[in-house]
Amino acid sequence: MEATLAADALTPLRAAFERGKTRPLAFRRQQLEALRRLITENEERFFEALAKDLGKPTVEAYASELAFILEDISYTLKHLKEWARPEKVKTPLVHAIGRSEILREPLGVVLVIGPWNYPVQLVFAPLVGAISAGNCTVLKPSEMTPACSDLIAELVPKYLDPEVVRVVEGGIPETSALLEERWDYIFFTGSTMVGRIVYLAAAKHLTPVTLELGGKSPCIVDATCDLQTTARRIVWGKFFNAGQTCVAPDYVLCHEKTEGPLLEAMRAAVTEFYGADPKASPDFGRIVNERHHERLVGLLGDAKPVVGGDHDVSQRYLAPTILSGVSAEDPIMQEEIFGPILPVLTVGSIDEAIEFVNAREKPLALYVFTSDNSNADRVLARTSSGGACVNETLAHLAVPELPFGGVGGSGLGAYHGSHSFETFSHRKSVLRRKTWPDLKLRYPPYEGKLGKIRMVMG
Ligand code: NAD
Repeated sequence: MEATLAADALTPLRAAFERGKTRPLAFRRQQLEALRRLITENEERFFEALAKDLGKPTVEAYASELAFILEDISYTLKHLKEWARPEKVKTPLVHAIGRSEILREPLGVVLVIGPWNYPVQLVFAPLVGAISAGNCTVLKPSEMTPACSDLIAELVPKYLDPEVVRVVEGGIPETSALLEERWDYIFFTGSTMVGRIVYLAAAKHLTPVTLELGGKSPCIVDATCDLQTTARRIVWGKFFNAGQTCVAPDYVLCHEKTEGPLLEAMRAAVTEFYGADPKASPDFGRIVNERHHERLVGLLGDAKPVVGGDHDVSQRYLAPTILSGVSAEDPIMQEEIFGPILPVLTVGSIDEAIEFVNAREKPLALYVFTSDNSNADRVLARTSSGGACVNETLAHLAVPELPFGGVGGSGLGAYHGSHSFETFSHRKSVLRRKTWPDLKLRYPPYEGKLGKIRMVMG
């Protein structure tokens, strides 16, 4: 049954693509405008769905989901013509008289699989790229956030052309059936474990992929940092969406001497942001489901948190929690935390912090807080991560021309801004020549021609 569902979604899209429906830029623009209306005319319903699934505060829902997509659409509409233009490149003398150019052509029918933590942004932002580059798309939102998934499935056919964009809802069986089909591109956002499953399925058809995965993103704090701002920015980046952000600071590495004052400043920031009782704060989200709540409480173990630690499964609540005295061997350091728990570890020097990071999988993001530019440069030069910020957390995501993606274990490929358009385009190399002159020099018989060919080719 699932296999039929997958094929049913695919067939009309394939037919529309083959007919060239998505080729004109005017059509792509019209679909992007329709996606904009889908968001703006249903803003309240998205807020409700995000609150139901994740207890997402309205400001966070607006900034990190809806406004993000709206800005992406505006930026894309502004630049689409320029991105889609044939790109002229130099033609070497040997091929003169000729003209060489790179054409951006759509890939075909693409599959976008989304996670639950930003359930709206992370299906629609890839869709902006897919539409702008002229593809047809099947969207598979996460089943873990059913209110958002249902809303997306209800609205997409009302606003977007059903021959061009379709939604298939469901969990593992439905996604597995979709992965059996032959796609021209698969754009996956989710865990490293499922990323491997997607990659294997794609290999069967030699389908190219983007894998937007996760990992443990470190936050290095040196002794010269501006303590108050550092604490506020780490606490904000960590507890935004209750820590369920792929680029959330997973753990802090700070100098032994800085630990005490940093913990104090972070405690103050938690109280400033969420009050004395974060459970009562409208600005602090909830854990997506009971299973993840249980996993997070398990990771806390017997730790004695410096901040927070209390939890209530009936409300899927886990307080903003900060741990100190954590060692690299503790369970909390063995997996991506993906929740509101921040372990703080100490190191003796910046070099020790660099070694710690390099002994692990390459992270999706890395943050360094320092007033010393040479320390920032040293960390950037000697570590590898998908992206990085100096004296900031999360915000590199919102710069449209910074490609967003992982490296090594944190993913493959990148998108945002023009990079989304490029991700969903094939760069086709074209050499155009006249039929004259047609020098006999290159054709057999070659006898006596090597010297002249050397002169032409160098
Ligand atoms: P997930 O891998 O469990 O699920 C992602 C998608 O895969 C869902 O749509 C789900 O239905 C599907 N899926 C799950 N199991 C599957 C299987 N066995 N076969 C086929 N499909 C399957 O991820 P998640 O829990 O939704 O999201 C959390 C993870 O995503 C974290 O690791 C986080 O860091 C990462 N993430 C990365 C980014 C990024 O942009 N790099 C953004 C958000 C989240």
